[in-house]
Amino acid sequence: MTAQIINGKEIVSSLREEIKAEAYQLTAQGRQPGLAVVIVGEDPASQIYVNSKAKACEQTGIYSVVHRLPEKTTQKELIAKIHQLNQDNRIHGILVQSPLPKHINEDEVVDELDPAKDVDCFHPVNVGNLMIGKPSMLPCTPGGIIEILKKINVSISGKHAVVVGRSNIVGKPMAMLLLREHATVTICHSRTPNMEEITRQADILVVAVGKANLITAAHVKPGAVVIDVGMNRPPEGKLTGDVDFESVKEVAGAITPVPGTVGPMTITTLLRNTVESAKRHMKTNVSV
Ligand code: NAP
Repeated sequence: MTAQIINGKEIVSSLREEIKAEAYQLTAQGRQPGLAVVIVGEDPASQIYVNSKAKACEQTGIYSVVHRLPEKTTQKELIAKIHQLNQDNRIHGILVQSPLPKHINEDEVVDELDPAKDVDCFHPVNVGNLMIGKPSMLPCTPGGIIEILKKINVSISGKHAVVVGRSNIVGKPMAMLLLREHATVTICHSRTPNMEEITRQADILVVAVGKANLITAAHVKPGAVVIDVGMNRPPEGKLTGDVDFESVKEVAGAITPVPGTVGPMTITTLLRNTVESAKRHMKTNVSV
């Protein structure tokens, strides 16, 4: 039986309608949610992501501003920009687009973000809160994936979830969120021997590696839910995921296509985090 192809468009458009309604309500109360994106240099993929984020803000009634800084921007200049945005009352979310140029220490830049405006959930305070189960910003990609699973009525509690990849952006926070939803979680990475044996035990398989078609039908348990985070852009040719879609869809119970689901859901979580941040600022009536 062929897998359910998860319809990202439908999920994303209904969620964005909800976010838009909230953004308009906040605007009517004098607190339009605002997102600032900082991009350093000319990385072509980053330019595409930044433009999609700005467009999504525009479509949902969120104020957005993109700060395009030249490749030669110094660490000090970038941190000064972050400090300025931390103080800006119109801005409730700040996102520093990665990758940053090699001469910039990304960790030091993230440390300078106001954790209340860290809509990517990269700041150590937010990462720590996530780890100990305190309410915090939702990491965008993993948060979006949990939302997808809920929208398609996958019950996570008690299931064996396997996450392939252990990056700070996707793999680790993904494992943490699945654990929070009471899954039994296994993480695989580049040093995991016999990975197939582990992935074949997964009821829910999340793959975030960055290697086109790494996961084949042989890695997947019949009926499993397969979430493909990978975005691999060959110099020529189309964007592909980490999962060999054609073979895996014959085995899985449900599968996300690439592009179309995890990417747009990541942006949707970013929009939601920005709105939630604006709401928190309004509630506490604190000018930041
Ligand atoms: P990353 O930082 O490069 O991490 C990749 C992970 O994959 C590492 O933990 C690495 O293990 C593991 N790995 C590498 N080769 C492996 C193998 N053969 N078998 C098992 N594990 C292996 O990447 P990332 O930032 O997490 O991104 C992963 C992919 O997701 C990329 O394609 C990226 O573009 C995409 N992505 C998409 C979105 C979206 O919105 N759709 C968002 C973020 C990322 P080690 O730790 O042992 O090196």
